[in-house]
Formats: sequence, C-alpha cells, structure tokens
Amino acid sequence: MRPIRRDDQGPAVAEIRSILVNLELLEPTPGADVFDARTEHAVRAFQQLRGLSIDGRVGAETWRALDAARWRLGDRALYHSIPQPLVGEDVRALQERLLEMGYDVGRADGVYGGRTARAVTQFQREVGLTADGSCGPYTMHAMRRLGRKVVGGRPQWLREADAFRESGPNLVGKTIVIDPGHGGPDPGVVVIDSGRRWSEAELAYDLAARLEGRLAAAGMRVHLTRGPATTSVLSDPARTQLANDVGADLFISLHVDGHANPAADGVATYHYGTGNGVTSTVGERLAGLVQREIAVRTGLRDCRVHAKSWELLRLTRMPAVRVDVGYLTCSADRARLIRPGFRDQVAEALVAAVQRMYYPVELDVPTGSIDVHTLRAVVDATAEA
Ligand SMILES: [Zn+2]
Repeated sequence: MRPIRRDDQGPAVAEIRSILVNLELLEPTPGADVFDARTEHAVRAFQQLRGLSIDGRVGAETWRALDAARWRLGDRALYHSIPQPLVGEDVRALQERLLEMGYDVGRADGVYGGRTARAVTQFQREVGLTADGSCGPYTMHAMRRLGRKVVGGRPQWLREADAFRESGPNLVGKTIVIDPGHGGPDPGVVVIDSGRRWSEAELAYDLAARLEGRLAAAGMRVHLTRGPATTSVLSDPARTQLANDVGADLFISLHVDGHANPAADGVATYHYGTGNGVTSTVGERLAGLVQREIAVRTGLRDCRVHAKSWELLRLTRMPAVRVDVGYLTCSADRARLIRPGFRDQVAEALVAAVQRMYYPVELDVPTGSIDVHTLRAVVDATAEA
C-alpha cells in the first residue's frame, strides 16, 4: 500500500485524524479529511511515542499501530479468539499489567493469544474469580485493584535472560533466523553507480548467504526468511511468525540504509524497546555486540544501538536485532559494500557477535581482537568443562 501522506485527502485521512484526536495528539476540527501540517506533526508524535520510524507518513506498520491504538484498556471485553486473535493497545496494557504482577505472558506484543489467556486464567484462579481466561469487567476491576500494589522487576526480560542462560554456551544445535530485508517486488534502497544497479535487497541477501554458511559450519541450525530471487515478499509480521514457528534462539535482520543526504553514513543496530524504558535486555546485549564487532572490524562509522518497537522486534519471541550495515547512498560506504571481501568481513563480525552471546562474560576479550575459530574453540572448551 502507498503510504498516506501530506496533502492526501479522503475518508482514510478522516479516520487517521479521528484516532489521533482520540489519543489527544491532534486538536479536533469538524469534518476535516485533509492530511495537513498538523496531521503530519501528530503522526510524527505518534510514531515517536510508539518507537516507530518517524517519517510523518502512514504506511502499513504505522497504520496497524494506529488501528491498535483505538482501544484503551476497559473499552471492550478481551478474550482469546481463534483463529483471529484480538489485537490492540488495550491488550498490550493488560499484558504489561500481568507482567508487572509476575504472570508469564511472554512479550507484551498486544496480541491476545493462548499464553495471555493462560496468564489471565491463573490470575483469576488466584483471586477467586471464574477462571475462563477472558478479561471482562470483574477481572479488569480485580486487576486494577491489585495491579497497583505489585511492583515488578520487569519479569519478562528476566525470564528471557534466564531462558537464554539455560540454553548453554554452545552454538551446536541452536537455531538462528537470518532475515534479509525486502526482496521480491521491494528492492529497498536502490542506487545506480557507473551503470550498475545496486539494491539493498540484493546486498542483504548476499550478506545473509555469507553468514548462513559460517553459522551452519559452527553447528547452528540456520533459517533464511527468503531466497535470492523471491517473487513475493513476506511482511514483517510474517517474518516474525516464521522465526517463532521454528523456535529460533536468535533473530538477525539485515538491511542497508539509504538517505537523501549523500553524506549520511555508518552502521546502526536496533533491538526491542519502548520510549519508557521497557527493553529486551538480551536483545540489547546482542545489538551491542553486533554493533561493536561491525564498527571495530569494518571501520564503518558507529551510529550506535537504538531501542525500537518495530513489529519485527516486538513480535519475535527471541532476542532479535536489525542491523543497517552502511548507507548505499553514501559513495564511501557503497564502495565498501560492493566489495565481496568487505561483505565477508561483515559476516565474520556477525558470527563473532553471535559467538560472544554464548561466551562467558568473565572471559570476554577486546572486540575485534580474536578470530572466530579461536573464539569457537574457547566456547566449545567451556561447554565441555
Ligand atoms: Zn531496509
């Protein structure tokens, strides 16, 4: 779908405006259906609040977030609906409340699935309500009453960290999903250089293939979310579904950035997190390792690690990161990216980051100073000890 943007007009714009008005991000103007400067400003504010990419347009992901934002906790009864689960900000608020009270709903992803229903059932049983896994007025009331008294230590991330630790220091048998961004009809960033067309989709796939071989050689089970020349392309939620379905231990999405300003350059890595301090600690650690290894080994400018609540990072149930390796629109970055040897370096850096995830912290050595084979030997030795 083409993003709805500045100067567009019609019922879709009226709908977007009414949601923004409900969220108190926009002053109500009766009958307005034009995407004016104020609307754009409100969309940017909404994107910032939600940790989305801030471009002031309503594309598919921003639309789904706006659609979910219609519902506030208590507006409607919540229950586990099959096969089409209820989705919304109210579900996310419920999940965060349950998490604060120590119930295991996994990640607060805003989707009322089986795990959320089980957590609600457990809560109902413990407070003496009919345990049906649905969240109607009584359950909501009990939760409001009790929710305030219980202060949690972000149990979901402690659980994620525990699960990660328990999985052991060895790469053998671990499952990783590598997600080359874009593909099919969507080439991502495209640049023509000396008559040759370079696309983000093609470079991301090439990086994924180089990484796949190395991780498989280290004994990991590796899945890619697409092939080199897919005709159709998976949406971000479908990519996360794939990772969840194969029970991945790690998820790495590969992109190359682009910008209208040809001077923009460097590498940046993203992990799940919201503006109000909720963050995936294991995801943040993986992002930090990926960022450091690539910056140190390749010399790309370090544009740091950032928390985002993109669907790709929010709906995955394992530590997940997205890395944007350089800017295809910057001639210096591009000159590197188009060299196969450079892409090998990036793949090596990513392998080192994955190795370090499972490498005991107390034995940590300076970034970029160790080659992957040595690192693997040490990890294997530790696993046997
Ligand atoms: Zn991209």
